[in-house]
Amino acid sequence: MIATIINPKLAGIRSRIEAVCIRREPPRQPASVTLVAVSKRQPAETISAAHTCGLRDFGENYVQEASAKAAELACAADCTWHLIGPLQSNKTGEAARLFGWIHTLDRLKTARRLGAARLDAGLPDMQACVQVNLGDETGKAGLPVTEVGAFLAQARDIAGLKLRGLMCIPEQGLDRSGRLGRFGELATLLRDCQAGMPELDTLSMGMSADWPEALEQGATMLRLGTALFGARQ
Ligand SMILES: *Cc1c(COP(=O)(O)O)cnc(C)c1O
Repeated sequence: MIATIINPKLAGIRSRIEAVCIRREPPRQPASVTLVAVSKRQPAETISAAHTCGLRDFGENYVQEASAKAAELACAADCTWHLIGPLQSNKTGEAARLFGWIHTLDRLKTARRLGAARLDAGLPDMQACVQVNLGDETGKAGLPVTEVGAFLAQARDIAGLKLRGLMCIPEQGLDRSGRLGRFGELATLLRDCQAGMPELDTLSMGMSADWPEALEQGATMLRLGTALFGARQ
């Protein structure tokens, strides 16, 4: 039942992804774009339906909500779980056991705790993107652009953690050119960082309302919730 709702939305998104990838200069392989299905505030059965539609990457904002749903799901071990919300330091152990990726890293203490918890649990490295607060918005998570280089240099050697790239959530209310500008800034920042750290290969940017612009600017991970599942509960 739910799969019949997700499938056409997914097909529409995939064909738009292809169209944007073909227009890029040089053209990109659509397979180089990972769709992270944001399942926060969606029931476990929606994740299960999305899994039958072929989706394997799921984004959640809260550790407890994600753990509860994963425990219900037969397909949980066949999925990659992405933490896309802020992480409280008392939840790092639980987060490290469930999530293969964190997109919101912005504190060294959290990075160290996550790495240590992965080693303790005998799990492979946690894949991490550093969140960047491009607009220097007060009260918003993420590092200012000026601190990203130093953070990466310090987090690079943490065992149990593998730095993969950068993530952003642009300010609300930007028009198309404003969004292209912000996503372009993150892409430029990644290129600058790659000079010293060629292993960085990920740009986590683009949500339901702005993903085409993010993809035009080189996003490798799109985080889509409502575009795939409709409104959240
Ligand atoms: C909720 C959320 C998304 C998905 O938002 P939609 O607009 O539903 O696509 C993506 N990224 C983050 C960080 C989120 O919190």
